[in-house]
Amino acid sequence: MVRIVTGLLLLWWLLPAISQAEWLSEQADIMGTRISIELWHEDPTLGELAIADVLDEFKRLDEKLSPYKSDSELTLVNRMAAESAIDISSELFHLLQESHHYAELTGGAFDITFASIGHQYDYRTGEKPDQQRTRQTLPLVDYRHIELDPKRNTVRFLRKGVKIDLGGIAKGYAVDRGIALLRERAIEHALISAGGDSRLIGDHRGRPWHIGIQAPRKKQAMAAVLPLSNSAVSTSGDYERFFETDGVRYHHILSPKTGHSAKDVQSVTILGANALRTDALSTSIFVLGAEAGMALINRLDDVEAIIIDQHGELLTSSGLDNLD
Ligand code: ADP
Ligand code: MG
Repeated sequence: MVRIVTGLLLLWWLLPAISQAEWLSEQADIMGTRISIELWHEDPTLGELAIADVLDEFKRLDEKLSPYKSDSELTLVNRMAAESAIDISSELFHLLQESHHYAELTGGAFDITFASIGHQYDYRTGEKPDQQRTRQTLPLVDYRHIELDPKRNTVRFLRKGVKIDLGGIAKGYAVDRGIALLRERAIEHALISAGGDSRLIGDHRGRPWHIGIQAPRKKQAMAAVLPLSNSAVSTSGDYERFFETDGVRYHHILSPKTGHSAKDVQSVTILGANALRTDALSTSIFVLGAEAGMALINRLDDVEAIIIDQHGELLTSSGLDNLD
């Protein structure tokens, strides 16, 4: 008996050594983009569970925030909020408040009502609104048409025809949520990325993670590779979702002032502490363009930027001067 117990104890003691600590990774297509998760875990079974948790969280947020799903909370708001104030979840309310914050910070360059025009584009089929329709709908693009009541958690649109879309902030938020779930599981080395939005926990065990910035006009080539740990990084580019007609590139980042695709730069990469902030700012700086965009980033002391301008030139913010 004693011998059996000792044997069992010995086996139990050996278990952690048998189940090898290792890097685990998984990819999935959610929120219209490629989600990648990579993490280090002492116990691969627990590591796989952590990855499944993160993917479930992405699916939950996609169901809630997608403008394309007919029963998402966001679609409900788009359908009803011009009629009367709509009760919304505190999570969606929080995202609308964040969106308002970035609209104010960027002088309206970040504006989720871009969708009033944006939803008339289909970047896969090349469908776009004509000049007259763009002119007619442009007055609906203004974040001040969104009225938020923090006491009642309601949202109301002050104009008929206003539409919102969280495509410039939702992936960053989802990445932050995923990172929080991994932290709760005490994971110390991880990467979550959703298309152009990534965030890292720790380093790659003794060396930094390496995050590439896509060369905007060369498929499969990198314009730069950033050694990073414990941070968030987002890239917005005009090569992600676009079509070309008569030599004009129509892409998915719209200037709220003109109602047309923003033209001044090819890509913007923002480094910061969380992915909601880097996501919102990468879209915003893309709209603001190289000069005004870099000036804003240099005024904020917690973020840095790498901008590839319309000539393919790489520009860096003042905190990154030693990069080039
Ligand atoms: P992605 O990772 O999809 O490339 P980006 O961070 O580059 O995302 O943001 C682009 C998305 O932001 C668009 O697909 C659209 O949903 C949304 N968007 C476009 N223009 C604006 C704008 N002026 N303000 C806020 N969101 C915008
Ligand atoms: Mg963004």
